[in-house]
Amino acid sequence: MNSLTSSTLKKYRFVCLLAPSFASEFDYPDIIYRLRKLGFDQVVELTFGAKMINHVYYEILKESIDKKEEKTWIASPCPTLVNFIRVKYPNLVKNLVPVHSPMGAMSLICKKFYPKHKQVFIGPCITKKLEAGEIGTVDYVLTFKELEEMLEENKIPLKITESKYCITFDKFYNDYTKIYPISGGLSDTLHYDDLLKDKDILVLEGLNDIIKVLDNFKDGCYKNYKFLDILNCKGGCINGPGMIGERSVSERRKRILKYRDNARRYEKDLGRAGKKIIVKDIDFRRKF
Ligand code: SF4
Repeated sequence: MNSLTSSTLKKYRFVCLLAPSFASEFDYPDIIYRLRKLGFDQVVELTFGAKMINHVYYEILKESIDKKEEKTWIASPCPTLVNFIRVKYPNLVKNLVPVHSPMGAMSLICKKFYPKHKQVFIGPCITKKLEAGEIGTVDYVLTFKELEEMLEENKIPLKITESKYCITFDKFYNDYTKIYPISGGLSDTLHYDDLLKDKDILVLEGLNDIIKVLDNFKDGCYKNYKFLDILNCKGGCINGPGMIGERSVSERRKRILKYRDNARRYEKDLGRAGKKIIVKDIDFRRKF
């Protein structure tokens, strides 16, 4: 994958797909201003993509439960773990939920709504570069560290200093999946109550603990669990390798929750709740 330079940003129209962990690193809404000043034409949150894949997770789990399958499904938004399972546990690839990550889902959505724009995913994860290469619709991936360098190089102010730039996200504003980058964020936003009990779900983070679980799968199941909600980084994506890293994980977590709560309280009236109907023709399932 090519690296994105400031001069490339000036040549084409770009849509920025911003990972929800941004709120733990950057101030909102200043970051929207900074991205637009840097040259992004559209800036979207991944939260609508996360909401759409939650629907597909629910459907797949429901189909499996209705068929009385004996199977422990493994969440698949973390490309590091997907690749680890492919290499070390190929027998468990069939347990990965065959659905795009929020990045993949949002990329498909943006292909529909901004077909001529080039896409840049910005987030905390280095392995997303590999995932982007696989799915083929994301043109560039930047980590938050790389974004920070680009903002500094272009002398973009930290705070909003001009009124000519729009300081809200474009089009697909949505709130509750803002907690996706926190460990357990996927299952916490899945609305599974009529399908699964809490005891059917295991939330795990950190490779060492995950290996212990994967080593102990038997006939496609881990104990009586129906679903493993797992992420490679301790604490979740808010502790990814591409974070800038000046805050503790607990501080980052608090910032995400505060951002979610503020959006719920003050931004409901933005009126862009992300309706399923507008993407009903997009297939969010994928193969591993
Ligand atoms: S948990 Fe870590 S490795 Fe996995 S997607 Fe998030 S940042 Fe990337």
